Amino acid sequence: MIIAMKSDATEEQIEDVCESIRQYGYTPHLIRGEERVVIGAVGKGDNKDHLHSLRSRPGVADVVPILQPYKIVSREMKPEKSVVRVGDLEIGGAEFVVMAGPCSVETRDQLMETAEAVKSAGAQVLRGGAYKPRTSPYDFQGLEVEGLKLLAEARERTGLKIVTETVTAEDVEVVAEYADILQVGARNMQNFALLKKLGRANRPVLLKRGMSSTIKELLLSAEYIASHGNDQVILCERGIRTFETATRNTLDLAAVPVLNELSHLPVIVDPSHGTGRRSLIRPASKAAIAIGADGLIIEVHPRPQEAWSDGAQSLTPPEFSEIMMELRRYVGLESRYLNGALA
Ligand code: PEP
Ligand code: MN
Repeated sequence: MIIAMKSDATEEQIEDVCESIRQYGYTPHLIRGEERVVIGAVGKGDNKDHLHSLRSRPGVADVVPILQPYKIVSREMKPEKSVVRVGDLEIGGAEFVVMAGPCSVETRDQLMETAEAVKSAGAQVLRGGAYKPRTSPYDFQGLEVEGLKLLAEARERTGLKIVTETVTAEDVEVVAEYADILQVGARNMQNFALLKKLGRANRPVLLKRGMSSTIKELLLSAEYIASHGNDQVILCERGIRTFETATRNTLDLAAVPVLNELSHLPVIVDPSHGTGRRSLIRPASKAAIAIGADGLIIEVHPRPQEAWSDGAQSLTPPEFSEIMMELRRYVGLESRYLNGALA
């Protein structure tokens, strides 16, 4: 249920409504919009009639039900787009954000070389897996804490923010010690213990869509994180499984405007896992911008043919740099800007 406060509601009136919501067994979730405050009453609660009765409270403009099963992350609850802040970087705001780097952190030289290259090409965030969820148990599983330390060293050197995956709930604390954004991989989108733990983490979360998950399931997973206390969630379309085999996954670009309609959370696209092929990164990235994405996450490796994971979809630094130059023009058309280049 949404309790919309009048634009001149006082702080006491807002607190009074929140207190009643708690007494009725719901959790109040406050959203301060530009014009007025709305309070979401989420949770099981004991009686919706109690919430309806709040309509007569001083300062309350209206009480309306939230129709979607996800509440906090829905546009119904918050009509304005949300911005996720990572230090001085805003994701979902005027700047188009590009996260780039290797699939896996392999060695210091590999990571530093990639970090310098993606930084000078204009990326704002360095990606790189230190904990890798691999299909085969015999494949490289990641450098773990050693990889996290290398990512932190790359941040020191370049000033790039760091996004890296946490594969289990137990790893959340150590990953949060080193990373700026915690990534949930496609294979873990419905790992509810992990999502709950991330709800209590003090870091933004990049939530990737499960390869067989619907948009509604993605938003319900985001709701898990938000309802446990962390609404700093970035959604990521990374391709889904279909009958098509020409690409590694089927990049569901229509998911971007659908998510933008249903949710206020920022949405980024992963053309690397979404297509699985180096040659498709450029067209898929342009399409992602045109269709309204807030950013991209792209795999880059200094020597893709030697990569320990996902070489076939990794760009070389010169290829990445060339694509970034071209993307600036498209971002301009969308009246955003990409790292300094004004629309
Ligand atoms: C990755 O980002 O390297 C990764 C494993 O992605 P996904 O979870 O989307 O497969
Ligand atoms: Mn990968």
